[in-house]
Amino acid sequence: MRLLLVEDNVTLADELCASLKQQGYAVDWLTDGRDAVVQGATEPYDLVILDLGLPGMPGLDILRQWRKDGLSLAVLILTARSSWSERVDGLQAGADDYLCKPFHPDELLLRIRALLRRSHGHSNNSQLEVKGVRLDERRQTVLLPSGETELTAAEFALLRYFMLHPGQLLSKSQLQDHLYDGEAEPDSNVVEVHVSHLRRKLGRHCIQTRRGQGYRFIGLN
Ligand code: CA
Repeated sequence: MRLLLVEDNVTLADELCASLKQQGYAVDWLTDGRDAVVQGATEPYDLVILDLGLPGMPGLDILRQWRKDGLSLAVLILTARSSWSERVDGLQAGADDYLCKPFHPDELLLRIRALLRRSHGHSNNSQLEVKGVRLDERRQTVLLPSGETELTAAEFALLRYFMLHPGQLLSKSQLQDHLYDGEAEPDSNVVEVHVSHLRRKLGRHCIQTRRGQGYRFIGLN
């Protein structure tokens, strides 16, 4: 999943980028509201973490603009603890969730996980379970009838994306767009390599190939 973090506090942003990447998210970080309003509307993000007090353009105006343009991506706003009016305004402007500063990074991670699952029609259980495959997002392992199997960071990120889009035909470029940040330049066959590793761990039939079109997550049942 690829996230956009819009936050002008460099220390906080550094900390958040590090913990988000550790959880297998690709993250692009912007500090200026004018850049964010454009990039959020043009790049294929799965979720945006949006600070409200920003140079260039206030977070609330960015959010209103996106919703006015019909952009439906999930947005979590960061607000000041003391300001209930900010939270209300944020929700009214179309935010999906909010978090009050200061917060612990773990709380943000749990909210992001819940929001991404909800926006893909899944309940927020401790493990993500889709078509007989269970993914433990905290431990980054997969639970199969044969037992628990470890995943590399890249396999985990790919499997999570597949499991949030079960049965859908996903092209290689779509997968690359959602698994790598804007600065990464992944090899053209990198998705292919990780898919073949996942098949080895989950079983060949878990992921179908459609020649020239992409992949489809079928799962175990
Ligand atoms: Ca700020």
